[in-house]
Order: sequence, then structure tokens, then C-alpha cells
Amino acid sequence: MWLEPHSLGALLQLFAPVLAALLSVLQPHGAPSPTQEAPMSSPRSPQFITSSKATMEGAGVHLRRAFGYAELPRFDPFLMLDDFRSNDPDQYLEGFPWHPHRGIETITYMLEGSVEHGDSMGNRGVIGPGGVQWMTAGHGIIHQEMPKPGPDGRMGGFQLWANLPAANKLMPPRYRELTADDIPKVPIPGGEVRIIAGTLGGVTGPVTDVVTAPEYLDLRLQPGATLQHPTPPGHTVFAYVFAGELLLGGRLLSDHSLVLFGDGDHVSLAAGPRGASFLLVSGHPIGEPIAWRGPIVMNTDDEIRQAFEAYRNGTFLR
Ligand code: MN
Repeated sequence: MWLEPHSLGALLQLFAPVLAALLSVLQPHGAPSPTQEAPMSSPRSPQFITSSKATMEGAGVHLRRAFGYAELPRFDPFLMLDDFRSNDPDQYLEGFPWHPHRGIETITYMLEGSVEHGDSMGNRGVIGPGGVQWMTAGHGIIHQEMPKPGPDGRMGGFQLWANLPAANKLMPPRYRELTADDIPKVPIPGGEVRIIAGTLGGVTGPVTDVVTAPEYLDLRLQPGATLQHPTPPGHTVFAYVFAGELLLGGRLLSDHSLVLFGDGDHVSLAAGPRGASFLLVSGHPIGEPIAWRGPIVMNTDDEIRQAFEAYRNGTFLR
């Protein structure tokens, strides 16, 4: 027996917060709303709210970066989200000429206009309005991405970078492409969701083989509509507004707003008076060291040096 009688009280005191937490989990938190599929008890609160910032990439494409290198590793497993909507072809027609990638996956989702692309594996294609392309750079790919205006002169979409875990960084590269018709549009109370990856209302999106298996939703809510959406505890969850406004904690978050949520088992979202269109993305953090230079993201500086050396001496592709 290691416990002396007088220390029992101290021990109980020590465990009091744990007991309280246990009890609070066991206690009901009010009746679940009719739209809930399972009881959700811990809402995620906004942890970080910001706006995408104007920057330039490629051969002089003006775009907005929602998050990137400066935010590492806050959005793990995601590295970057670029918003390249533009009404001025002069600001994007130079595009992203031939450049390498290694160690990541990119997911490009078009709202309007298109992106013509080609790569070192001989793939050629066009990502059209509402279409999605995802690319596993794996051990290496060299590609170009050239945005083109739609018939109304408009062009825009998003590119999300998902990191690859060390075990998959050097996997064989691959490219997949989907048209708008391949993306399920599912009505939900007060709106509609386009499911790019993940499952909502029993419907699963077509992007299923991104290694980190993210959930990627394009949600359109009518004015004042609300949505409670379950998110696995421990996953990184963010929303990015691209039209209307999200009403969050008494604040109206308009176009270009980015919200990173703290931990919990669901997000509770509400549209403002003009409705809200936004991306809702989540994924399991990888939790590994990140070494990142330009289009190449590895675990160590040594691996970065090797990658650039291989690119210079022509042995980057296998
Ligand atoms: Mn690229």
C-alpha cells in the first residue's frame, strides 16, 4: 500500500478536474436538433480569423493566399490555400509555366474559367468550371498550369496543398481530373453542398485517394441558414468564404475570410443576411517536421537540397 490515508484528499483534489470533465461528458447537453445524425457535444470555436492576402506567384499571377509558409504548421496536414479568382486576364494569363513539385499533393478546384495543364508524365488536360484536379507530386513531377478566362471573361478557383507523410513523399506521381458533373451537389436544409471529398448526408465525394484523406466541401447557404457539421476530434478544420458572409460569434465574415477552428466534434455555422458560400475543409494532422522551399516540401533541409540538386542536374524525374 503506497497511499497514506492523509494524502487521499490531496489525490482526489488532483483528479477533480478530470472527474468534472468526465461528469460533463456524461451529462446531456440539451436535446439534439433534428438535423443531427449523432449527438455532438463540443462545438469548435474560431481560433484564428484572418483574410487572404494579395501576392504574386508563377510568371506574375496576382492571387490571394489564405494561408501558407507563414502559418506553418497551424493548418497541418494542409500547407497552403491560394485563391486565384480574377476578372482581369492581364493579371493571370502568364500563368504557372513549367515547374517541379515533390513531396505534396495539390487539389485545384475551379469556380469559373479554366486551367490548361500539362506534365512530365505526358498528361494534358483542362480543368473546367466546377471541375477538380488533384495531383500527387510524390517523388517528382514537372508541370505547367495556365489559367484561361471563361466566355464572360471571368476566371477563378482555389488550389489547396496537402502535405504527404514521410512514408509517401517519394511515391509515384499521379494526376486525376473530374468535371463539374462528377461532383455531387446535395441539397441540405437551407442550402446546397458540393462534395469534393468526404461524406455528407450519406453522399461521398469523388476525391478519395488523396493520401491524407481530407474532407473538402463547397457549401452554399441561404440567408440566415445554419449548419451543424460533425468533424472528427483532433482534425484540423478551416472555412474560407468566397461569397456572402458567415455569421460567427457575432461577426460577419465576408469574401476572403479564413477561419481556423479549435478542436471539438462539430462546427456550427450560420449564413449572414446575404447568404454564404464557403469552403469547409478538414484533415488529420501529420505531425512531422516540415522543410519547405518553393514547390518542394520534405521533412529535412537535406532532402530539400537533394531535390533541388536533382532538378539542376536533370535527375529529378525517375
Ligand atoms: Mn504547380
